[in-house]
Amino acid sequence: MVLPLPTSLSPSKVSSFTDCALAFRFSAIDHLPEPPSVAATRGTLVHAALERLFTLEPAERTKPVAARCLTEAFEELEDHPELAGLELDEDGLATLHAEAEVLLEKYFRLEDPTRITPIGIELKLEIELAGVKLRGIIDRLELDEDGELVVTDYKTGRAPGERQEQQRLAGVAFYSLLCERLFGRRPARVQLLYLADPVAIISTPTDRSTRGVERKLAAVWTAVERACEREDFRPNPSRLCDWCGFKAYCPSFGGAVSLADAYREEQSRERRSSELSLTA
Ligand code: SF4
Repeated sequence: MVLPLPTSLSPSKVSSFTDCALAFRFSAIDHLPEPPSVAATRGTLVHAALERLFTLEPAERTKPVAARCLTEAFEELEDHPELAGLELDEDGLATLHAEAEVLLEKYFRLEDPTRITPIGIELKLEIELAGVKLRGIIDRLELDEDGELVVTDYKTGRAPGERQEQQRLAGVAFYSLLCERLFGRRPARVQLLYLADPVAIISTPTDRSTRGVERKLAAVWTAVERACEREDFRPNPSRLCDWCGFKAYCPSFGGAVSLADAYREEQSRERRSSELSLTA
């Protein structure tokens, strides 16, 4: 059997494939649902609060207003499976809210939001490069004091060590490439704001980094095509397994890949039958 190709690549898919090809397959090809996690939901809440904050006039972007934005984001997510699925009791919800509030408070140590000129928030970008769809969501696109483009990505986990930093910066070069192709201008700066530490990792895209990311994307796509043809996505156990939601399917943890095949085929049968009933 040949596995279906994923429809696109994104920075997170590229790093997932590089970290563990099997986890990539479960997510991007089998589309297995991932159980909600407190860390991911905390990230969603902080991103949503900052998104709200940057829809406001500069002078309004203060700490108390950011706290209000977080409360609103929390209320909006209340019945969503991402929050409801965590099944937290009152204390657990209060802890999650407090942790998100701390991250927001630390955000203000990294920059002054009243001085930022956003031109796009949660911006969905898509281009086609050598037959591959590349997609990314930029947390914030802004203009600096010289009118140059700056891409900002918020991170709610810890800042990476030296090795992972290179990988994260490859994600940054991906965003820069999307901007360059879509807006005809290379961003002057791409910054990752690690709120927990808090620390900013700033990179200046160059011809070399752009060529590097193009080469890497082509190599990843070729490897994905080959793995799909051969149905050969291998597990790569590492400490990342601690956060992996696919252990039940992973042979390294006694799981069965056949369960993922069964899930994908069932989903595809359901899709086909709903398409048929729509055309009937
Ligand atoms: S548990 Fe580890 S080895 Fe298995 S799929 Fe997840 S990340 Fe890969």
